[in-house]
Amino acid sequence: MSLVWQPSSWRSHTALQMPSYHDTHALQETERRLSGLPSLIFPGEISQLRERLAAVSRGEAFLLQGGDCAESFDEYGQGPVESTFRVILQMAVVLTYAAACPVVKVGRIAGQFAKPRSSDTEVQDGVTLPSYRGDIINGSAFTAQARQPDPTRLLTAYSHSATTLNLLRALAQGGFADLHEVHRWTADFVRSSPQGERFEELADRITQSLAFMEACGFDARRTPQLHAVEFYTSHEALLLHYEEALTRFNERTGNWYGGSAHMLWLGERTRRLDGAHVEYLRGLGNAIGVKLGPSASPDDVLRLMDVLDPDQEPGRLVLITRMGSDRVADRLPPLLRAVRRAGRTPVWCCDPMHGNTVTSSNGFKTRDFERILQELRGFFAAHGQEGTYAGGLHFEMTGQDVTECRGGAQELTDEGLSARYRSACDPRLNGSQSLELAFQIAAVLKA
Ligand code: PEP
Ligand code: MN
Repeated sequence: MSLVWQPSSWRSHTALQMPSYHDTHALQETERRLSGLPSLIFPGEISQLRERLAAVSRGEAFLLQGGDCAESFDEYGQGPVESTFRVILQMAVVLTYAAACPVVKVGRIAGQFAKPRSSDTEVQDGVTLPSYRGDIINGSAFTAQARQPDPTRLLTAYSHSATTLNLLRALAQGGFADLHEVHRWTADFVRSSPQGERFEELADRITQSLAFMEACGFDARRTPQLHAVEFYTSHEALLLHYEEALTRFNERTGNWYGGSAHMLWLGERTRRLDGAHVEYLRGLGNAIGVKLGPSASPDDVLRLMDVLDPDQEPGRLVLITRMGSDRVADRLPPLLRAVRRAGRTPVWCCDPMHGNTVTSSNGFKTRDFERILQELRGFFAAHGQEGTYAGGLHFEMTGQDVTECRGGAQELTDEGLSARYRSACDPRLNGSQSLELAFQIAAVLKA
């Protein structure tokens, strides 16, 4: 660790999973231009998310985080963002009802462009090329030219993020997120699809609650809590050249902030205590997530907490566990116990996606709905057993009708995956599977 933190102090640490740019002059020019552009996110919004997360850490609210594994520069229209945002809101309404507390909504969106990879290279038909590392770094096409890291992509990522964020802010505040409207979509899904039928009873109870509120005189249009939502953004802080160029000092608070998202997280592959990514994130005032896989020991977690949250600030850390459905019962409880005994209360969140990735018989990277649900059940059970609060969920999902994960009420099989497999990286739950999962979790929470 560097003695004095600066936005650039990560540069004297080992940086894993980062591209090596050939044209360093072009990279420096891009960084210079980015550092002169406005921050995408402002300190007051970051503080507000931290307050919301502090409520989660006290057990008074619940966190829902979701979106693409990797956003794509090719999807710049309104449709994909709108549909994913809508499904997150629908899931949040179901969870609000079931958990009987506010749900803090955070997208993996408006900046989720950089990907860690298990291998630096990819082989196809005897040809070896550098791996695709997300649209902010290189292109997914399997050609030498596309796979070359291109610094000008940082500027495209910035403008793409700004466009998406502008749309999200409008959708969140402009009436699209009206609670009655959001629930009407869910009620339609339940009524008109075979996948939804089994959730009719719960959906009806929400309908009745809304009718009751209306009867009591709560006019949705005049009640901000019913007509608009708070929505926050997040992504993995992987490409540190980009993150550093968007880091800003705030005179009023005396803190540095990452200006690319409200919450930034450390991936499972970049959480080395002495690594560049931990060094960069420790100096920011943002909410910080840390992915924890089955290899994380209680000692690793406590030391990371000491470095990233030395003053034990409420709402600072979200520990996102992704153990795998078959290891959660074994790997999670020791971590919960150690953190509880240390007197710390981070937000504990479950990512049931990344420990459950498999390859289908016909060669697709996929995940089984049942195993995702099983890890979620294991997460709630482990917290029940250790007396800690299961505070949130983290999904790779989209509002579009893709065919990337198997199972669910749609009963997607290996053969069905090829129909609309669109992810350039990990498989996402589609809109129907996401909503179905929210209803399944609601049943666990209500039990
Ligand atoms: C991801 O969230 O897309 C990811 C790569 O996760 P992890 O670091 O947990 O593997
Ligand atoms: Mn992923």
